[in-house]
Amino acid sequence: MTDRGTLVPYDEAMSRYEPVIGLETHVELGTTTKMFCGSPATFGAEPNASVCPVCLGLPGSLPVINRTAIEYTIKIGLALNCSIASWCRFARKNYFYPDMPKNFQISQYDEPLCTDGWLDVTVGDEQVRIGIERVHLEEDTGKSLHVGGATGRIHGADYSLVDYNRAGIPLVEVVTKPVPGTGALAPVVARAYVTELRDLLRALRVSDVRMEEGSLRCDVNTSLAPRGSGAWGTRTETKNVNSLRSVERSVRFEIERQAGVLDAGGRVVQETRHFQEESGTTTPGRSKEEAQDYRYFPEPDLVPLAPSREWVEELRASLPELPAARRARLQKEWGLSDLDMAALRNASALDLVAETVAAGAGPAEARNWWLGELSRRANESGVELAALRVTPAQVARVAGLVASGQLNDRLARQVLDGVLAGEGSPDDVVAARGLAVVSDDAALLVAVDKAIAAHPDIADVVRSGKTAAAGALVGALMRETGGRADAARARELILQRLAPG
Ligand SMILES: [Zn+2]
Repeated sequence: MTDRGTLVPYDEAMSRYEPVIGLETHVELGTTTKMFCGSPATFGAEPNASVCPVCLGLPGSLPVINRTAIEYTIKIGLALNCSIASWCRFARKNYFYPDMPKNFQISQYDEPLCTDGWLDVTVGDEQVRIGIERVHLEEDTGKSLHVGGATGRIHGADYSLVDYNRAGIPLVEVVTKPVPGTGALAPVVARAYVTELRDLLRALRVSDVRMEEGSLRCDVNTSLAPRGSGAWGTRTETKNVNSLRSVERSVRFEIERQAGVLDAGGRVVQETRHFQEESGTTTPGRSKEEAQDYRYFPEPDLVPLAPSREWVEELRASLPELPAARRARLQKEWGLSDLDMAALRNASALDLVAETVAAGAGPAEARNWWLGELSRRANESGVELAALRVTPAQVARVAGLVASGQLNDRLARQVLDGVLAGEGSPDDVVAARGLAVVSDDAALLVAVDKAIAAHPDIADVVRSGKTAAAGALVGALMRETGGRADAARARELILQRLAPG
């Protein structure tokens, strides 16, 4: 029963099968309080500190809808080009799970708040339109912690603990329509979609969208059918994939695995699977429940939701510039090619460069610092660019000092060294380390004369009219001054000193 034994290499699988993908993304909203009560919706509090009778499901407690959560959800729907329901209801989804104190989850079922939209994503030169089936609102569950086992799963654990802080935090679910026709690009398209959705949610300021903390979680559906069959295969659902890279890997693995099952004449089982981060594989979970197993019915403790058209239009007018439009605008303003723009995005440097430009740097300089020197530093220390201990404003200041001739590139790198080492602002580092370029003629002339005296043979060559030889003297002078001299001015002074006649 090894899942791995029957894998078909990816390219071979793609030559015979056509994948269809679909994504369900859960987003914890960044509201101050929970979905149906006043408990704080904060991450990282002491276990079971952010709770009250409502989110603990105590008898007699009644939920009240959080208006901000509705507002955020409508904004998400509008940004995804959805229709906003003028009337809809919450539904009770009944099932038992220890981390769900009420034994039901308040969710939305056949009356979602937002329906039928789309999101365009770019993959290479191609734009793919991902249909959005629905955006609905529900409450998050608590969290179980299984202690004593090797895997952190309940199997083999000595005991389990449960933390209800997360129970009742507003959770938006964004469900795509099935996405056929992407062929071998399916894994990349899945990743590009989650990336674009994350950027969109961040721009809307409705969530902190941190995949590693679970505020953005993805379930990835994958199915395969023989090429040209015109039918779709049975899909599996890989749960809680918690990084962009894992989204891509999980689709790829499912394609290789399902091709193996189909090649052997087997049938893909419709089931929930778990992505294994270490091995890059998926393993079977429970077989998928049908909707009727949940005994959905309209939530009797809540009034229906009927957002007025005026409110919806107000929210539409309040939408910020969305990421795709912003990228197009910046690309034009900065005069970048598609490839340059893709490089910025891939390095997660777009916002950093934009903030550096906003702080006064030229776009080309800002881009060079972040994609060049600073990317190299980030790689060396194994951190994200944004985690470096230098702010866009500080990078802009360094670029400004270079532009005004107070620093050359070499000194600027030393200034960044100091800033990254926590020695303070660029100006602090310049002052403390004595890094400013020497462009004062009196000081430079002393160094010029010293260089000429040390290399009389080269000086003679320059005197004879071969001015290109002055470069060697500039080099000597730069070594002598520890790279702090204004090289261009030093060269002018050398040529003046050695002018024939
Ligand atoms: Zn509560």
